[in-house]
Amino acid sequence: MTQPKIERVETYLLWVPLSRPVADSIYYRTHWHVPVVEIYTSEGLVGTGYSGLWAGEDLLSQTIERYIAPLLIGRDPRDIHKLWTDIYWSPLHWVGRAGVAHMALSMVDVALWDLAAQRAELPLWRLLGARHSQLQTYNTDGGWLNFDLNTLIEDMSGMVEAGWNRVKMKIGGPDPLIDLRRMKEVRQALGWDITLMVDVNQKWDRITAQLMAPRLSELGIGWLEEPLHPDDIIGHAQLAANCSVPIALGENVYNLETFAAFIEMKAVDIVQVDVTRVAGITEWLRIAHLAQSQSNWVVPHAGDMCQIHQHLVAGIGADKPAMIEYLPWATEIFEEPVKVERGILTLPETPGASSRIRSDARARFGNGDSGFTMSVAKMAGSAYAAGVNQAPDPKPSSSDMFRPPSDKAQ
Ligand SMILES: [Mg+2]
Repeated sequence: MTQPKIERVETYLLWVPLSRPVADSIYYRTHWHVPVVEIYTSEGLVGTGYSGLWAGEDLLSQTIERYIAPLLIGRDPRDIHKLWTDIYWSPLHWVGRAGVAHMALSMVDVALWDLAAQRAELPLWRLLGARHSQLQTYNTDGGWLNFDLNTLIEDMSGMVEAGWNRVKMKIGGPDPLIDLRRMKEVRQALGWDITLMVDVNQKWDRITAQLMAPRLSELGIGWLEEPLHPDDIIGHAQLAANCSVPIALGENVYNLETFAAFIEMKAVDIVQVDVTRVAGITEWLRIAHLAQSQSNWVVPHAGDMCQIHQHLVAGIGADKPAMIEYLPWATEIFEEPVKVERGILTLPETPGASSRIRSDARARFGNGDSGFTMSVAKMAGSAYAAGVNQAPDPKPSSSDMFRPPSDKAQ
């Protein structure tokens, strides 16, 4: 087999309308924004990566365009960890490790894993070492804060009637007493056989969380999601020590090292690591294995609309519950949207990571941006690209550090 090479990198942006406006404790939304990267190789394959957010999608695609694509052109797409490391330790490191640069790296990493699965002619979950061919889902496409009480109850009851026995509602509004009333009414409407989770979306302070915790326990809440600021590891640890309701978080935790601190501090029970927020499948797998080693559940947040996470949860052999969040937004952009019937997700058999975007999506949902292409020809004229592939590894290896001085001078 001749060595494959990355020949072209393309990015474009999609704005996909939601079926109804939704609000949680921090945002009101009408569209889901999806930046896409496609990596073309000399094998004739196209790997697709994408992200999902409310704002800043152009920043992710510009980061790929200006800083990451030049590092990819001409490289072997099979060297996923090598490419990940080169991008991670590139000069982007100073502005990376969380947020824009990290999420841009995620998009590229997903495209590389998509390529790996296509090359193996396997769906990604089988390439990773399949354990589950079906997954449970919990429904989070409802229970929004912009619903009045009647609409809320109707909406939550509708999810149960549609076959879900695990559902989530939003809290964290300006008045915790109103939150409590809404939770009580929903619990009464659904009965006690349904698992009801609640999501604060980071809005409480430590005192509010401590005061609310016993009330949530009385209502049989299945988990309390993002009660505090996502960087407040100590606050979460103190809360978890005094709260019988499990603490779920992770959609705003961006890297392995921070997850390791949350886990070590016993500040999290359910690890909601999101492949679009950490640096792709490569970092997601490291975090999931760490979490599993400490008996934490891994139930990812669906920033990817479940497309990629279905493969990851099935592929890592997640123990109980082998479950992902069901959030069916933007399904119309994917070539093969997730298949979920009455709460049960059935894994696809198509080779790849289910990240491929429909060919008509750009015409239907493009935001007018003309997109970007970096090819071998363009690369030749890029000042930034000069010498990047020959750049020394910026992180000294342990063998370098322990080499005698006479050796180092050579
Ligand atoms: Mg959430």
